[in-house]
Amino acid sequence: MKYIFGPVPSRRLGYSLGVDVLPSQKTCNMNCIYCELGRGHKTFSRPSYCPPAEDIIFEVENYCVKNRDFDCVTVTASGEPTLHEDLPTILSNIKKLTSKPLVVLTNSSTLSKNSIRKALEQVDLVLPSLDAATVKGFRSINRPHPDLDIERIIEGLSNLRKTMRGQMWLEILLVSGMNDTTKELYALKDALSRIAPHKIQLNTVARPPAESWARPVPSSRLKEICKFFGKSAEIVIDFHTQMQRANKIILESEIMDTLKRRPLSLEDLRVLFGMYDGTETVLRRLLNNGIVQERHVKGRTFFVAINEHV
Ligand code: SF4
Repeated sequence: MKYIFGPVPSRRLGYSLGVDVLPSQKTCNMNCIYCELGRGHKTFSRPSYCPPAEDIIFEVENYCVKNRDFDCVTVTASGEPTLHEDLPTILSNIKKLTSKPLVVLTNSSTLSKNSIRKALEQVDLVLPSLDAATVKGFRSINRPHPDLDIERIIEGLSNLRKTMRGQMWLEILLVSGMNDTTKELYALKDALSRIAPHKIQLNTVARPPAESWARPVPSSRLKEICKFFGKSAEIVIDFHTQMQRANKIILESEIMDTLKRRPLSLEDLRVLFGMYDGTETVLRRLLNNGIVQERHVKGRTFFVAINEHV
């Protein structure tokens, strides 16, 4: 499978069938310091090559005909999914293929465009991110393409919220010493009062970041910030609290398919592929063969696929 992966036990959504609309390499108009895809080239215009919409839709259709073991379909990318030129077609077709909720992840950068907002109006859940509301904070954390303007992004989010049929759960990823300062938090609070998302979800660095100096915010501080943002704010629950998955046959290629999209711990992989020893055996083999590497973050060990093998 080239475009779909999982279902993955997501921290926010239960078992999510992932659809990666830009899978080949990181394609994004930002270069966030905490990005788990590593550093990448920033693009502002649509990428020169987008996989054909019909190929992506065909794969989703094939899966949905044979399987019902997922809670939602999440459109994402190895980068920013709204940069795919045919995203509206992809979304409207997935809506026809399944009655399960359709979710879209976005970094919010293209929401100033009418066409993108129109496409997102039809989905059940939009998960946009907004990590800073000042020019300085935005540039420091998200390191955006120079043509991106934070004020237009906030306005785009606010306009989408007014016209969308589904829910908007806005994520703020907090990085110690960067966007957890009083000035940044007040600016964010002001932006949030204009946007009025259904939920505000606070997160912090939990996976190997693009920059090793991007440090997580301690949980006591996260709780204070959550209180500061008010009733609609919550700290997103950890991966491990998601329900366990029934055993399934583990194939190296399935583990590799998953690890090339995001780093996971052994516990994450066990939940995803079934709680039995085979997961560890396969993982050890991939490590010994140099196909997978360990990374250590906040006292936890994550596994990542090494680029030349993916
Ligand atoms: S917006 Fe997402 S994909 Fe793009 S650099 Fe930031 S974290 Fe990475």
